[in-house]
Amino acid sequence: MEYDMPLYRPPSEARSLIFQITLGCSWNKCLFCAMYKGKRFRVRPFEEVEKDIIEMSWLQPHTRKVFLADGDVLAADTDYIIKVLDLINERFPRLERISSYAGPTNLMEKTVDELREFKKRKLDILYLGIESGNETVLKKICKGANSSQIIDGCKKAIDAGLRMSTIILLGLGGIKGSYDHAKDSAKVVNAIDPQFLACLTLMLGPYVEIYEKKLMGGDFKLLDKMQSLIELRWFVEDLELSSCRFGTEHASNYLPLNGDLPGDKDRILKLIDRALGDDHSRLTRPEWARGL
Ligand code: SF4
Repeated sequence: MEYDMPLYRPPSEARSLIFQITLGCSWNKCLFCAMYKGKRFRVRPFEEVEKDIIEMSWLQPHTRKVFLADGDVLAADTDYIIKVLDLINERFPRLERISSYAGPTNLMEKTVDELREFKKRKLDILYLGIESGNETVLKKICKGANSSQIIDGCKKAIDAGLRMSTIILLGLGGIKGSYDHAKDSAKVVNAIDPQFLACLTLMLGPYVEIYEKKLMGGDFKLLDKMQSLIELRWFVEDLELSSCRFGTEHASNYLPLNGDLPGDKDRILKLIDRALGDDHSRLTRPEWARGL
């Protein structure tokens, strides 16, 4: 099996067998995301996918976890997805779960019943970038969905029995929009009540000037470490979730944390406060170590 590069998967899928069902992202317009900018979106012909699945079922017959790539497999037709899921289930008898990325736009287009059919075939976790709960930010970054549509899409998946792993991108509101970004994002996450929640921090590298001009109409300034920690605190202090695994371990973040919410909320807030109280805290990553 050969992959069409670049190939991305969430860190938690490091041990999963990956099949590329679609290539690229059907939306591909989010301003901060360069993942699939060099790829034109397409659904791979079933015969090609079938060949990969059969080949790997001979090579790795004991596979328990499968991740479907690229950016948004749910953009494909329901019948096609069901055919792929059926084949994976048939060829990997020890299979425990299948996961994939999902975009808010394609989740909106599937019905609860369609999502239930996927769940029956062991599609279990969807990774979805909420990015922000703030309408201004969502528009500026061209997410393609507003906060209500993101909430509806995620809740529909949860109603169908799927587990949602959601992502908030710290820093997207810049300095000026930081408070609203944090507070509105917490509101949206609370409304979804996902099973997994991760924060990443916006990193723009050499594109910082272009993005500063494009984002927020030229009024955008990237957060520094302390501003980012304050934003994280504003966000976490408002979270009211029933049972969620929370993490900020991604290499883009200044402060790696993890825990179960609501149980670990106080501990997490205390750690953020400790990091905020000491600019050179060992709890935080130095700027040079971010993204490594
Ligand atoms: S939907 Fe996801 S993969 Fe597609 S452009 Fe936006 S962030 Fe990137």
